[in-house]
Amino acid sequence: MTETRDTVILGSGCAGLTAAIYTARAGLKPLILEGHEPGGQLSITTLVENFPGWPDGIQGPELIENMKKQAERFGATFQLAHLNRVELGAHPFKLHTSAGEIHTRTLIVASGASARWLGLASEQALIGHGVSSCATCDGFFFRGKEIAVVGGGDSAMEEALFLTRFATKVTVLHRREGFRASKIMLERAIAHPNIELRTNTVVEEVLGVEDKDVRGLRLRDVATGAQSTLPVSALFLGIGHEPNAKMFHGQIDLDDDGYIRTRDNVLTTRRGEVVHGVFACGDVQDRRYRQAITAAGSGCMAALEAEKFLEERGR
Ligand code: NAP
Repeated sequence: MTETRDTVILGSGCAGLTAAIYTARAGLKPLILEGHEPGGQLSITTLVENFPGWPDGIQGPELIENMKKQAERFGATFQLAHLNRVELGAHPFKLHTSAGEIHTRTLIVASGASARWLGLASEQALIGHGVSSCATCDGFFFRGKEIAVVGGGDSAMEEALFLTRFATKVTVLHRREGFRASKIMLERAIAHPNIELRTNTVVEEVLGVEDKDVRGLRLRDVATGAQSTLPVSALFLGIGHEPNAKMFHGQIDLDDDGYIRTRDNVLTTRRGEVVHGVFACGDVQDRRYRQAITAAGSGCMAALEAEKFLEERGR
């Protein structure tokens, strides 16, 4: 018979790992399904300067590794698996994962959000051949080259600044006039001698599909309609993320953009009624703050709610 766990945590980013630390310390022996991007977004970022307690900043992957070790020390176990389908209609919940069926009394959804793509056929064809959504993973390959970054938010500015370590020039392409990025990040990008910001510009095609290597971009100025070519060796996407909640469609309430709707911070609902025992935390339910520290905070809340739920039900 399949063993029934007290707590399964979906996702191993900042929210999931914080929930893991708390539930592990509470003796719930959580199982963490690491998903397709173990460690979440922090594991593919560089210096994190705004996580309290690190006056000189800490590298994202190091912060994540520390959290994982902390959770393991208290008995959390990790499994490389992703969730295909869930049955939340009856207790215990049934999770159909790539590693088999798992039964659990509580489920903490911390599956985060994944990088968004432009959706151009040429872009998709060149992923891994000069098109990337992860500057920290792939920037190194473009030392001494010219690079473009798409986006007007903090991710785009962060990627552009990081890429100046390798590239001779980084052109940031943004589809409108105003930027979404925070003032400090935008000012850093503007002040950088190797970064050029181009507004009102969209990418129409990534050139180089025949060569299996990015050769440049065909751009369009949305104000004038004028087309131009930008010779670059790589295109990095910094245009935000999609919540990883599709597998919950019909099981718990999602908003119009696919984020999990929560009540009292971390409680989930189905048709407006609370789904007892299923909690959501981190970027999969947060379209407003999306910070490492807020993800960690909501992971803590989800863990405390799971603990309370199990206590009330009598484990
Ligand atoms: P974001 O703030 O949603 O910005 C996404 C950007 O991409 C926007 O400028 C958007 O344009 C553009 N965009 C979206 N879809 C596009 C498309 N199909 N084609 C062209 N452009 C497109 O996302 P984010 O930058 O990933 O930031 C998310 C959150 O994380 C924010 O709260 C941010 O502050 C935080 N963050 C913080 C840091 C840091 O502090 N170091 C670093 C990264 C992220 P429009 O503006 O026209 O919509």
